[in-house]
Amino acid sequence: MIKKVSIPLVLCVLILALSCSRPVLVPSPRADNASGGSGEEPDIQWLAEDDEASGGEELPGSKKSHDAQAADGKKSDIKDGKKADDSGEDNESRWEDAGVAGRTVRTRDVDFARAFEEFPSPRDPVAAPAPLPSASSLRYPPLGARKRPVRIMVRRNVKEATIHAPAASDVRAPGVRTTFRGRMQIEADLIGQDAVIATVNREKKELRLPCTLFVSSGSHPLDVNGSAYRGAMVIVSESRGAFSFINILPVEEYLRGVVPLEIGNLPESDIEAVKAQAIAARTYSYGKMAANENNPFDMLSTVSDQVYGGVTAEAATADAAILLTKDLIIAYNDDMVRAYYHSTCGGSTANIEDVWGGAPVPYLRTQSDMNAQGKPFCSGAGQSFAWTETWAENQLSGILRRYSSEGGLDPPFKGGIKKIDIRERFECGRVKTLAITSTSGQEHTAGGDKLRFVLRRYTQTRQIQILRSSNIRSVEIKNNEIKITGNGHGHGIGMCQVGAIWRARSGQNFEQILRTYYSGALIRTAKPDR
Ligand SMILES: [Zn+2]
Repeated sequence: MIKKVSIPLVLCVLILALSCSRPVLVPSPRADNASGGSGEEPDIQWLAEDDEASGGEELPGSKKSHDAQAADGKKSDIKDGKKADDSGEDNESRWEDAGVAGRTVRTRDVDFARAFEEFPSPRDPVAAPAPLPSASSLRYPPLGARKRPVRIMVRRNVKEATIHAPAASDVRAPGVRTTFRGRMQIEADLIGQDAVIATVNREKKELRLPCTLFVSSGSHPLDVNGSAYRGAMVIVSESRGAFSFINILPVEEYLRGVVPLEIGNLPESDIEAVKAQAIAARTYSYGKMAANENNPFDMLSTVSDQVYGGVTAEAATADAAILLTKDLIIAYNDDMVRAYYHSTCGGSTANIEDVWGGAPVPYLRTQSDMNAQGKPFCSGAGQSFAWTETWAENQLSGILRRYSSEGGLDPPFKGGIKKIDIRERFECGRVKTLAITSTSGQEHTAGGDKLRFVLRRYTQTRQIQILRSSNIRSVEIKNNEIKITGNGHGHGIGMCQVGAIWRARSGQNFEQILRTYYSGALIRTAKPDR
């Protein structure tokens, strides 16, 4: 990685660089982030600005890749003698060069999507040879997939942020190309529209949006407000001066920040469950990427999609599972499946149409989660497997009145609660129709997953959350107290995560696990289709 350069050569290069006007720091081609966190110092090159400018003025959307720019350079590599700035001291922070292009680009002329083209793909054939197929991709037949970096909304509607770049970081904004390292403070630009003010070591610059930041020299992740992220970070404008951060990175690297948060930081002995989770999360991601092709981002970094915590969340077992299942996805009849998963089914997974309505999906069917002893695989999930909720009558009637419309309670609830009956169940045991009779004698009904949104519970910290599951076992009203018991946690569709862990512990491999929860589906290898 690090080239040994003799001292006379370094001096010679320095003299050469200093003799040229206004040196510009230009990064070498990106190292493969997949092996990231090595702590190695990146190689960097000095280039005279005149040389660089000979390639023509560059603006966002330029087809000339950054790798190509580095390849154009004819200067020797020198090792950056400075250690990456971890101290946060501003004297280590600096703009590397103003590099402002002469032409001004109006924000409205900028094609938003072009901001993303600034991120050079690490799979660029110039930068790296095509990887050899992995053992798994030889075993599982290929399936065409649109492969591109994934775009994750990681910070939304903020007015200020702190970026920390441990290595030289490129900045691309309309009309601006520059480089900085160290700490950058960003705040909303209250005068300029669609812009932010970026301060590095007390020197301010206005950056028009969208602005792309990426560490181009080595595998150091960028840090945004204390969380480190691989790949590139695009700052986009929101209304009223706020801005958001979209992290753009290869899918396999994104998964490293997802899998440990979705299934837990598990020991290596549970790796078959972690592999199943990696494949389900990968399949879900490709589905979202296809659906959001024309939108500014593919997924949120929250439970709305998949929880993503960047580098901070990464863990050894998950990294191994992702690598060992590289590119593997779940398919049914030559289409990727809708890879829903949930914490704990409680004994049986659900038909998708029983949860969210709509048409049945052949691989998202009710599936018994029983082991050979007739006990659910997920029964080790504690409170997520079997739970009890209690409310004072006036508490629950208040909740019903407040959340009637969200929970589809028909007609909307009024008054107090007289009785609650389970009228009908689905095949999986979840409640299809729940009838709540009010003190005035009016009957109100709700059912399916929406029940969770009307029968809200109090957490130990007195926060209101949705019910864990619509798999309600019993309802009891006694002495002004209402007690509901149930099984499971989550919507119940697709893979039961706790069930997957216990299946792995009983000796099942990832393929057996996935083919149980997505019945009739097969494991395939995602291959670029263009
Ligand atoms: Zn289960």
